[in-house]
Amino acid sequence: MFKKKARSAEAPPHLGIMRELELVGIEDLSDHGHLRYYPKGALMLDLLIDYLLDQVLEEGACPVKSSIMYSLSAKPVKEHAKLFGERMYQLKVDKKRYVLRYAACFGQFSILKDAIISYRCLPLKIFELADSYRLEQSGEISGLFRQRRFYMGDLHVLCRDLESAKQEFLRLYAKAYKIAGEFGWNYVAMFNLCRSFYEDNKDFIVKLAKVSAKPVLLNLGVPEGKYYWVINIDLDFIDNLGRPVESVGMQIDLGNAKRFGIEYIDENGKKKHPIIIHAALMGSLERWLNNILENAAKQKKIGKLPSLPLWLSPIQIRLLPIASRHINKALELADQFEASRIRVDIDDREISLQRKIRHARREWIPIYAVIGDREILSNKLSVSIRGEKEYINKEMSPKQLANFVLKKCAGKPFRKSYVQKRISLRPVFA
Ligand SMILES: [Zn+2]
Repeated sequence: MFKKKARSAEAPPHLGIMRELELVGIEDLSDHGHLRYYPKGALMLDLLIDYLLDQVLEEGACPVKSSIMYSLSAKPVKEHAKLFGERMYQLKVDKKRYVLRYAACFGQFSILKDAIISYRCLPLKIFELADSYRLEQSGEISGLFRQRRFYMGDLHVLCRDLESAKQEFLRLYAKAYKIAGEFGWNYVAMFNLCRSFYEDNKDFIVKLAKVSAKPVLLNLGVPEGKYYWVINIDLDFIDNLGRPVESVGMQIDLGNAKRFGIEYIDENGKKKHPIIIHAALMGSLERWLNNILENAAKQKKIGKLPSLPLWLSPIQIRLLPIASRHINKALELADQFEASRIRVDIDDREISLQRKIRHARREWIPIYAVIGDREILSNKLSVSIRGEKEYINKEMSPKQLANFVLKKCAGKPFRKSYVQKRISLRPVFA
């Protein structure tokens, strides 16, 4: 009894939310820490992927797709396994041993080692969003906080020298910070570096620290030459248990170009190893979802309505026909909203309007609109918009409502709904 109580007191709130909103579950037919995404969660994940892809394309990155497994008889893979071996999934196929990718680096480095790269191509940006596999300790696995399988986008930037790497790194770091701001949360920044790198590059470190306009944690205790990187920055979100959630990771890497045999040809025709920046601008997308849900729970704690950003909400408008004779009008309106690239559903169940409203609120539906005789006659909808503390009621024409949603989601990616339009036809996943 005591044990159960102690554990529930420690459970981060996102675990309950991911179930209640039918987003994510634990895959019991797989290993620990492997998640399943229900349609609404899959949509949110895909929208985050679209968002990240937009960000890196804006940077001029070239996306690639690589393999999930790498041979342990390949030298760079073997060397990497020596460092992180105990946290890598290994498997045997036709008497050969392989590891599952730990991050998206291997595949991209392998492509780059075979590429002919002139100094004119630099800085060269390459990107993959890869499902990655890490054997985290089973006791540390927790919902969207830590898994053994996760999606992570890793942008690599090949730079000709340290000076250009520093410039790129500073710009990308500012970008990572801006992205976090768009989601409305504050980060704690942690800079890990060797003392010698700090001494030689103080101006650069100060410029980096100024990006966040608040104190950063500086760890100068990194042993010289131990890692492939000389500086590693983490941006941490603080969850409802007060735990830092590492959500962005960036490094300047001096070792891997040589290890993997990645070269560029300089102005004099000489082959050189580039410096590589790693930038996981949104960390693992599970962590990002974790932060979105934990952030919503923080709002609830201070008496606000928890909510999702409108562009990420699996359903943006719910139509509530009062009686079955209003369903046809709801279907007609739903078609119009969908044509405007808005995700809409219809609560066509034979339950009272009060219950329909209660369900919409419980599911964090950002906007619902009642459709009855009066609304059909006037062509005005009785709209309720999820505000900070309460739903706000408004009369709006369908066109006004569509414009309101589109304006709020401007510049963000859109996907069609992943669930049935009529709620009566939907299975219950969780
Ligand atoms: Zn990387």
